[in-house]
Amino acid sequence: MKYETVIGIEVHAELNTQSKIFCGCPNAFGAVPNTHICPICSGQPGALPKLNEAVVECAVRLGLALSCKIAKKCNFDRKNYFYPDLPKAYQISQLYFPICTDGFLEIQTTNTPKRIGIREIHIEEDAGKLKLASLGRATQADLNRAGVPLLEIVTQPDFESGEEVIAFIERLREIMLYLDICDCKMQEGSLRADINLSLKQKDGELGTRTETKNLNSLKAVLRAVQYETARQAEILAKGGMVTQQTRRWDDEKAVSHPMRSKENAQDYRYFPEPDLPPLYISDGQIKKLSKSLPEFAHHKRRRFTQELGISPSAAEIICKSKNIAELFEAVAEGSGNSVEAANLITGDILRLIGEKGLDPEKICLDAAKLTSLIDMVTSGKINRGVYKEAVEAVFLHDADPTAYITQKGLFAVCDDALIRAAVTEAISKNPQAAADYTAGKEKAFACLMGQAMKHLSGKADPAAVRKMLVEVLKENV
Ligand code: ADP
Ligand code: ZN
Ligand code: MG
Repeated sequence: MKYETVIGIEVHAELNTQSKIFCGCPNAFGAVPNTHICPICSGQPGALPKLNEAVVECAVRLGLALSCKIAKKCNFDRKNYFYPDLPKAYQISQLYFPICTDGFLEIQTTNTPKRIGIREIHIEEDAGKLKLASLGRATQADLNRAGVPLLEIVTQPDFESGEEVIAFIERLREIMLYLDICDCKMQEGSLRADINLSLKQKDGELGTRTETKNLNSLKAVLRAVQYETARQAEILAKGGMVTQQTRRWDDEKAVSHPMRSKENAQDYRYFPEPDLPPLYISDGQIKKLSKSLPEFAHHKRRRFTQELGISPSAAEIICKSKNIAELFEAVAEGSGNSVEAANLITGDILRLIGEKGLDPEKICLDAAKLTSLIDMVTSGKINRGVYKEAVEAVFLHDADPTAYITQKGLFAVCDDALIRAAVTEAISKNPQAAADYTAGKEKAFACLMGQAMKHLSGKADPAAVRKMLVEVLKENV
């Protein structure tokens, strides 16, 4: 029997707002345990939540970017369950009236783009973290993460493969980075994806699904999809039935284990959150937020290739980061040479960022300085070696290009008389090479070229030196 894979995913994104969702505690990763807590986020009796407006703005902006309907009025609901890192014994979430619904995101894994439906985006709070201890020792709870704002993005069961899921997560990550609402680090848990997967026969009804959690890399997502597809296919092939359950992925062993039988909404005893009023969003607010949306990567890529004439592969690399894309555009505009600007960014600049282990989104470079260096190298005022050195000086010390090159005496020798003198000296000191060249040994030319460049301390435009050398050698015949 041939089965088709059906996948829908739930993505949790931790928002990078200054403070937590219902209190003023800082929202920061990696602090000393239990230093960012207060009566509200540590669940003390009588403490009341107050919604952080920045969270609503993040949700609406993401909803608009994913073509969702934005609710004029939405509510919060209480999801009751006990967990040691959830001191209130409930999570404030949105079940009945989520803030955004009915959107989509386009992915491309084949020649034709495919739309993945977004069922909803809802706002909720994160729980703390447990540090599990060995037997006989106490498990420790760190509540710094309790009350960190989350957006949960729920898709329709529209995926047919792990590759499609990965393409979706990558596109979603790009959008959230451009919106600057989440740092999207799967390893650190700021972006988490759960995979719902079932198998069905062609044109048949949807099968029973399982949900796999704890996937902290794209590679793990792909492997978990392959594992679960094979596991369910084997059960069905034997005439068995798939049990609806939540499974936990073990990345080291590349297997998943059942965690719990899948619970239903009823099990959580959801009810409208009595401590928070309904949330109203006006048309004016939506309009204002929609104006704040950046130009997204897919649009920039199209514009850079079609209007600025750079290659699709360069555009792909440049547009991964909004900051880098903006730097590229400023340098391309300033220099009027987009190909040279693209080479600079994809070459030396991204290499330096990688070597220094910097975040491309955070670096700040003066586009005017890079522009002036491009002008100098393309007009022959400096050679490629000096260009590279000066780019590094701008990158590392924000050096002033003209001052730097002048101080170090690196401007190219453009004076024909000086070039002629250097060439003449090279020939007179290497009569054998000159004679060999005249006798037809092309190789001897490189030797003379090298000597002449050395006399010029490497600071002349090689093309100009080459031309002069040919000229003087002809005169000497
Ligand atoms: P629950 O209420 O249990 O959370 P939902 O209906 O909200 O379930 O769906 C959760 C996720 O599971 C969604 O991403 C949805 O697309 C996906 N999903 C639902 N049914 C199936 C199925 N039969 N096979 C694969 N994925 C499914
Ligand atoms: Zn707090
Ligand atoms: Mg759900």
